[in-house]
Amino acid sequence: MAITDRPEGTDLDLTTVDVAAVVEGVRAVYDSGRTKPMAWRLEQLDGLVRMLKMEGARFEEALALDLGKPAIEGFAADVGSTASEIAGMRKNAPKYAKPRKARLPMASQPGKGYIIPEPLGVALIVAPWNYPVQLLLLPMAAALAAGNAVIAKPSEVAGATSNLLAELIPRYCDPEAIAVIEGDVAVATDLLEQRFDHIFYTGSTDVGRIVYQAAARHLTPVTLELGGKSPVLVDDSANIEVTGRRLAWGKWLNAGQTCVAPDYVLVTEKNRDALVDSMKTAFDEFSGGKGTKDNKDFGSIVTDRHAGRLEGLLADHGGTVAFGGDVDVDAKYVEPTVIVDPAKDSKIMQEEIFGPLLPVITVESMTEAVEIVNGREKPLALYVFAEDAEKAEELIGSTTSGGACVNHVVLHITPPDLPFGGVGESGTGRYHGRSGFDTFSNLKSVMKKPTKMDPKMLYPPYTARKEKMIRKFI
Ligand code: NAD
Repeated sequence: MAITDRPEGTDLDLTTVDVAAVVEGVRAVYDSGRTKPMAWRLEQLDGLVRMLKMEGARFEEALALDLGKPAIEGFAADVGSTASEIAGMRKNAPKYAKPRKARLPMASQPGKGYIIPEPLGVALIVAPWNYPVQLLLLPMAAALAAGNAVIAKPSEVAGATSNLLAELIPRYCDPEAIAVIEGDVAVATDLLEQRFDHIFYTGSTDVGRIVYQAAARHLTPVTLELGGKSPVLVDDSANIEVTGRRLAWGKWLNAGQTCVAPDYVLVTEKNRDALVDSMKTAFDEFSGGKGTKDNKDFGSIVTDRHAGRLEGLLADHGGTVAFGGDVDVDAKYVEPTVIVDPAKDSKIMQEEIFGPLLPVITVESMTEAVEIVNGREKPLALYVFAEDAEKAEELIGSTTSGGACVNHVVLHITPPDLPFGGVGESGTGRYHGRSGFDTFSNLKSVMKKPTKMDPKMLYPPYTARKEKMIRKFI
């Protein structure tokens, strides 16, 4: 079983995994009831937080090996932020797990109603390579907080991080209830043959379809955290200097390999050139005037295959390169590049870019911008830059996206109380904070009735008097 698309120097032993046996073992632990007590759940969350704190430097090293991630990005966007959010989950899990009272209408009286969150069973979590710590561990933490057992498959493309997760998770958490299975597509395919109680998949829309179909065989519920082209609408009222800097940051972070990275910009002619200039200035500032090649603060493209894909997008777009354009496939380097007015049917305007290239499209007005956005698949994120608050509301309200952010990019996915997920082709389901806990729970509705009174109204024979009463009360 050959793996061709991952960094050198990483080691995946795929020959020894008996996927069915691992799943069976984890299910037996779940069935024993071990994962249900809150004390067990909190121990696992503590274990994950401890692992990220004690082994943080090793994780940052692995991320640097896999993605050339600067340590600060590895910490802020992966290791440290994941530890903080899991600590938050640990604090709130007992509250989330409590029965939730529900109001009963008159017709249901006398009685009590409540909702009991109970675990689903064994959850499968399949993660991508771009934030390989966060995107495996946050859904895992939500699943564990809700009392599930977990099978986790990190991405083989971020091989060093995958190796480390597989080594450390069993040392810090219950190794019988949580299994990390490393591997490539063949292993993922074997896994999808098994029966799970929830599948949580993060990755491309195309693979999301495969996962959805596999889940349908067992009627397994899914969360699909997918990708797509996240647009940026720059209103005429926008603060162009700040807009340019924030967009440049969105493309600098992880070299643009972020599911919610700004993918294309819609701006009127009034501000277009100033916006392009402000992005250029920002990239120059970020690189300290030294450019991005061999710059330790700028990440690399994950593999030469992906660098080649981005080179392909640059080769034929029908627009004008405003700045950038340098690519070194062997060095997995792509320079931040802004392309003004590429052709609508060019690949760069059809595919998710997932790299530091940014098309800027000139529109007549924000009405046209909204038409363009609404003529495409629903995106994972949508960004509006506007000083006019009403206009910003109007633009958010006249488009649909998984999430949205006004006057910044990417950051809206970080607060645990803002459920994160896509819509349509960008995904289905939500997580982070309580929404993650609920994703991995069966929210069981329970009604309790007293026996002291037993009104005969419901029971046959259906007399005219009873019918009159029922028609009145229901
Ligand atoms: P990918 O779909 O290639 O791989 C993700 C995972 O799926 C890996 O673990 C991989 O082994 C597995 N996989 C690949 N092919 C498979 C198959 N045929 N059957 C079963 N499993 C398979 O995605 P990627 O390249 O790792 O990630 C990039 C994509 O993920 C982008 O589209 C990006 O937008 C999206 N993404 C979305 C989010 C989000 O939260 N919505 C976050 C990060 C990335």
